[in-house]
Amino acid sequence: MQFDDDADLDTSEVQDVRGSRIPGGKATVGGGIAGLVALILGLLFGVGPDQLGLSSGGSGTTATASSAAQVQQSCRTGQDANTREDCRIVAVVNSVQDYWGQEFRRRGGTYTDASTVLFTDRIATACGTATSAVGPFYCPGDRKVYLDLGFFDELRTEFGSSGGPFAQAYVVAHEYGHHVQDLMGTLSRSQDSRTGANSNAVKVELQADCYAGVWAHHATTTPDESTGRPLITSLTRADIRDGLDAAAAVGDDRIQERFQGRVTPESWTHGSAVQRQQWFTTGFRSGDMADCNTFR
Ligand SMILES: [Zn+2]
Repeated sequence: MQFDDDADLDTSEVQDVRGSRIPGGKATVGGGIAGLVALILGLLFGVGPDQLGLSSGGSGTTATASSAAQVQQSCRTGQDANTREDCRIVAVVNSVQDYWGQEFRRRGGTYTDASTVLFTDRIATACGTATSAVGPFYCPGDRKVYLDLGFFDELRTEFGSSGGPFAQAYVVAHEYGHHVQDLMGTLSRSQDSRTGANSNAVKVELQADCYAGVWAHHATTTPDESTGRPLITSLTRADIRDGLDAAAAVGDDRIQERFQGRVTPESWTHGSAVQRQQWFTTGFRSGDMADCNTFR
């Protein structure tokens, strides 16, 4: 995945609060009512820290002026996105939202931008206080995507994914898929709190994977708002493989096999590795969100 070196990045779409500490209190996302809602609606993994044996680790960091808002200081151009991980996230967020903005307009609708919040350790959200251990998620209460970059290390070390640059892009695009669902009114379908291979929760997750694929289809042709040229200039087969690899790594069957030693489809919330790859591929091949009807 390569970005146009000369494109300006729009850092206003990413809030960088890494290194700041929020006042204590118990983490509620991943446990409790708010956590349940967030778990079902937004979490990429749908598994809490205890089940995974992950911890958010360490004692955390303290806020300092110099560590705040690195993204705003350092991520100016596509060239920065080609060299720094956090700037790459900014560029992917820009590309994903440019695409959906244009697609909604084409359909006579209005896309509302959603910010991505980069945090470390824990964060207070409208869906409750979350720790990094819950993985990236979308919170419908404040319409923001929450991401701790340390998660991508876990994708490699704990989940056995290649975790390449496009694996990260897939994760971001999946979360924005939930935002698209939120705007279209389909996200609430997962609120019946049932689980299982045929549950609405799984269908909502697979649709978000499909939407990630739809964006990927258009990623190298969507004009960037600053230059009029695509922000992403190249996406290779190897990149797409990285995305598919990540999609499989976070399949419910893979996660269950890895962390509980057996597969229990009745407790699935996100779909199997094969399903997740299939729906990403469906969206990627056609580039048409109308083909993402996982509810059919
Ligand atoms: Zn999801």
